Amino acid sequence: MSTQRRPLIAGNWKMNGLREIAMPLAGELATKMNNAAPTSFDMLVCPPATMIDAVVDVAYESNLAVGGQDCHMAESGAHTGDISAQMLQDLGCSYAIVGHSERRADHGEMDDVVRAKAEAAQAAGLIAIVCVGETEAERDKGITIDVVAAQIAGSVPPASTSENTVVAYEPVWAIGTGRTPTSDEVQEVHAMMRTKVTEILGADEADKIRLLYGGSVKPSNAVELMGLADVDGALVGGASLSHDDFWQIAESCP
Ligand code: PEP
Repeated sequence: MSTQRRPLIAGNWKMNGLREIAMPLAGELATKMNNAAPTSFDMLVCPPATMIDAVVDVAYESNLAVGGQDCHMAESGAHTGDISAQMLQDLGCSYAIVGHSERRADHGEMDDVVRAKAEAAQAAGLIAIVCVGETEAERDKGITIDVVAAQIAGSVPPASTSENTVVAYEPVWAIGTGRTPTSDEVQEVHAMMRTKVTEILGADEADKIRLLYGGSVKPSNAVELMGLADVDGALVGGASLSHDDFWQIAESCP
């Protein structure tokens, strides 16, 4: 990892947790962030939308950032059940995940929708975390690099900067399965991602942009994954629901 890229450890709580469990979890992390300041990493939690407000309160005056797990591409309008990027920003969020594979699979979100959502997040002053990653069938066919390169070309807005965008590589088959690619495979994809981002944003921005790895990151594999040259942090699902595991992952950053 380059010294000019500050690692980001992001927790995606998905549709998990009620206030009784989530509030102490956020509180522990906010306290740890304060006690450990200055940390060598940024830390973010993305709770379910129902708890963003309360988690923002708990994280108040700490360095724990809060984000949304998705946002709509429009600022407002007749979109029942959806949440705009502006609404997330209004609640106190600083990030929004877009294009998570569960959104792509469950809601049929294609690259053009993901790009529009990323643009909406950026326009609202949020940092968009754009997720990409191949399915198991695509890896088995040997087309991982092509698939991820095409997703980046289609999902990352051309006007993105390293300040308002993070890209997360999450092999779909590694999410929640306990399986991960080898370190060489992760680094191969991340190196390609930086090359691809260079084509879109230019060398200066591509050098500074953070590329996260996600998919079964846990304390036991974090040191190796976070030590890879083009890995600048992690997007963590299951292990982000334990403050001890999540903190250990964060402390694995070089
Ligand atoms: C995720 O959903 O973004 C994720 C990486 O999940 P997990 O860490 O549980 O594999």
